[in-house]
Amino acid sequence: MATIPWLVDVLRGAGVQVVVEGDWLNRMRPGDFNPIGVLWHHTAATSSATNPHPALNVCINGRSDLPGPLCQALVDYHGVFHVISAGRCNHAGVSGGSGPIPAGDGNTLMIGWEIDYNGVSQQMTAAQYNASIAATAAVLKRLGRDASYARGHRETSTTGKIDPSFIDLDKMRSDVAAKMAGGTAWSSVVDNSTAGRFTASSSWGTSTYSGQRYGADYRFADPVAASDAAWYKFNVPATANYRVDAWWPANAGYNAATPYIVATTTGNRTIIVDQRATGGQWRTLGTFTLPAGDANRVAVSRWSSASGLVIADAVRLTRV
Ligand SMILES: [Zn+2]
Repeated sequence: MATIPWLVDVLRGAGVQVVVEGDWLNRMRPGDFNPIGVLWHHTAATSSATNPHPALNVCINGRSDLPGPLCQALVDYHGVFHVISAGRCNHAGVSGGSGPIPAGDGNTLMIGWEIDYNGVSQQMTAAQYNASIAATAAVLKRLGRDASYARGHRETSTTGKIDPSFIDLDKMRSDVAAKMAGGTAWSSVVDNSTAGRFTASSSWGTSTYSGQRYGADYRFADPVAASDAAWYKFNVPATANYRVDAWWPANAGYNAATPYIVATTTGNRTIIVDQRATGGQWRTLGTFTLPAGDANRVAVSRWSSASGLVIADAVRLTRV
């Protein structure tokens, strides 16, 4: 196989929004291209709603030290796939081997998505994640490969690449597998910094103190016997069961009995966690039935019986 001229049709067939970037059918690097898998990257550029694809130009044209194109498609802040190339691109370098992807020439072996977010103080948007899952599932189906052929650059790199950041790649593969099975995979993360999706009163301070934080910072407040919760808003796609995970930085001075509230179809449920321990990772609060719609679904309450700061960092919903 020398090119993948079917890419745009396959993406559109999967419901992925596509922008064709110029002469994508003839823009490629010389050399072999016989892809068996899909590789996820982040660009390290800071994207936003008003600047959704800051790395698009460099992905098309390359850099002084690396000629373009640098990926088959760039995934912008809104989850739109900008299709750049139907052929070989300089995205993967040498593969050290990962899962079923052998060691060898990564640019021959894999199709690359450059997902446009900075990966240090900015995570992938929900739109980017969901579109990348749908696109990866559709492309692997077209290649006749299963979800294990979806990898992250940090898994195949021989030079210490860290991308894509803030993504659990085993979970990514299970979401791709569910999508390929015709399932209803859906997952969304809301961080305290996610625009329009996190609400807290001015009584909640902002801190970058703990290196276990998710994203750039987190919020904190003293416990108080009053209703002053920090809320996380999610656009839940269907009334169904969702696993709720929370992420907090842990510290001996934080709260031993922090209430998380989950707004389910049968009312609010409260889960108490110890924020002195098990920080810097996703912790499962439980699986709950949530109603469809865009609304506040999870909260961190200050109404704790314990002393120590209550922390509000990130929350993840995953349809199960
Ligand atoms: Zn990369």
